Amino acid sequence: MESAEGKPIYKGTVIGKVFFYSKGQNQVKRERITNTEAEIARFEQARETARKQLSALYEKAVVEVGEDNAGIFEVHSMLLEDEDYNDSIRNIIRNEQMNAEYAVAMTGDNFSVMFSRMEDEYFRARSADIKDISERLIRVLQRAGNDSAKLSEPVILVAEELAPSETVQLDKSKLLSFVTRLGSSNSHTAILARTMNLPSLIGVEIDENWNGKTAIVDANAGKIIVEPEDELLKYYREIAAQEEKRKALLKKLKGQPSVTKDGKSLRLYANIGNVSDVANVLANDAAGIGLFRSEFLYLEKEKYPTEEEQFFAYKTVAQNMAGKKVIIRTLDIGADKQVGYFNLAPEENPAMGYRAIRICLDRVNLFKTQLRAIYRASAYGDISIMVPMIISLEEVLDVKRICREVCEELHENGVPYKEVELGIMIETPAAVMISDLLAKEVEFFSIGTNDLTQYTLAMDRQNPKLDRLYDARHESIFRMIRMVIENGHAGGCWVGICGELGADTTLTERFIQMGIDELSVSPSFVLPVRKAIREANFVKKC
Ligand code: PEP
Ligand code: MG
Repeated sequence: MESAEGKPIYKGTVIGKVFFYSKGQNQVKRERITNTEAEIARFEQARETARKQLSALYEKAVVEVGEDNAGIFEVHSMLLEDEDYNDSIRNIIRNEQMNAEYAVAMTGDNFSVMFSRMEDEYFRARSADIKDISERLIRVLQRAGNDSAKLSEPVILVAEELAPSETVQLDKSKLLSFVTRLGSSNSHTAILARTMNLPSLIGVEIDENWNGKTAIVDANAGKIIVEPEDELLKYYREIAAQEEKRKALLKKLKGQPSVTKDGKSLRLYANIGNVSDVANVLANDAAGIGLFRSEFLYLEKEKYPTEEEQFFAYKTVAQNMAGKKVIIRTLDIGADKQVGYFNLAPEENPAMGYRAIRICLDRVNLFKTQLRAIYRASAYGDISIMVPMIISLEEVLDVKRICREVCEELHENGVPYKEVELGIMIETPAAVMISDLLAKEVEFFSIGTNDLTQYTLAMDRQNPKLDRLYDARHESIFRMIRMVIENGHAGGCWVGICGELGADTTLTERFIQMGIDELSVSPSFVLPVRKAIREANFVKKC
């Protein structure tokens, strides 16, 4: 028996055979050639084939994992057109009289090293994409078939690293889990694993000798156990069976109302980061989207998403939700969510720095572009706007003025839009303390307990050393929640929670008794929270 630890990117337990996936290490021969122009023509031909393959992969990915996640193949297609990259290949063929495979391999290595040393995180991440397209070109030149894993049974796929193009080519019905040594929780592959609901780990010291052996992936505890002893296998089979049972039982709650035993009805919504998450929202029967973290649209891009791109994303979500509420949070960039093209200066204290609405009220054009996209999309469903990181009444009044200006412009141009509900996130102690004043200006509050905890306890939520002490169940947080609900209700607002604490089912009854109106949680927590609501009493029993 052997075990290794890793970082879970999607929780759960699976048991199965390991399939060790190695990228058919293309043995590239170094050959001197005489007809350099014919070799360049062969390279151009291979580029054309790769172009077609990428376009087919893009189409396939759009259907399977949504447009946003499929975007990576557009990035690959763009890299394939990069003139510096192509010139380098042509030069090696022409000047060094080398075969095309060798020229591509050399260029791929050089460019990927160059990208990996860049300051900008986005460009560093492109290093893997350069390797990916170079390998594709070499495969085409070698006329090798597509080396995606031919899986005959459901497996735990163990790999050094998985490129998105490899992930999307795998047969989803034959996949139980991904376990990789490299990769980050925000890599496209991690996003795809989550989209496919596969309990998976990254950062694992993998071993080729695991191939073909039985293993347990415990993505709750963050470990893989290879060739487990019978006792352990029995134990984990039991856990996996219980997880399945829990899921099946929860499915029975689909279609059921989120109402307490004594008849209080709650809005049970889900949180999303991009358009493709809507499938999960619908599969888990959420009554709406309580938090669409719109900054992910910006994080996935290499330049500002245009109004059209944003409009399309918001409209798609609104249409797919078919009339159910969709609360779009305006840009919450900054702190841990940095985007290179925003050119934000490094800060001593980014969590307490230049972020979210502070940026939007400075860069009004940027804010207006987003608001126009949201208002235009409002004509296609029930959209609301929610503003993060509010600390003052002035900020709210500024936001309302800018919203009015956007609406007037749309009206003058004859562009259809609807009046939308405007709400704010209560995630700073300042907002809590003036929630009575804020309530008079907006239609709803959504309590962001993740940031509220960090600012109330003076504890950076990203700092692993403070993980143990970062306690969202601190009495101060409960008192603040109560105060926000009371002030919100007195001022005519409905009040929800969209931070992680809202998914804590041991607190559901307590929140309900405090008078909470809405809970917005990750899609997979919708049914567990519905269960807790249905078992709760609104009126405290003495
Ligand atoms: C929060 O702070 O609780 C919240 C929901 O927003 P985010 O986690 O995106 O900062
Ligand atoms: Mg927050």
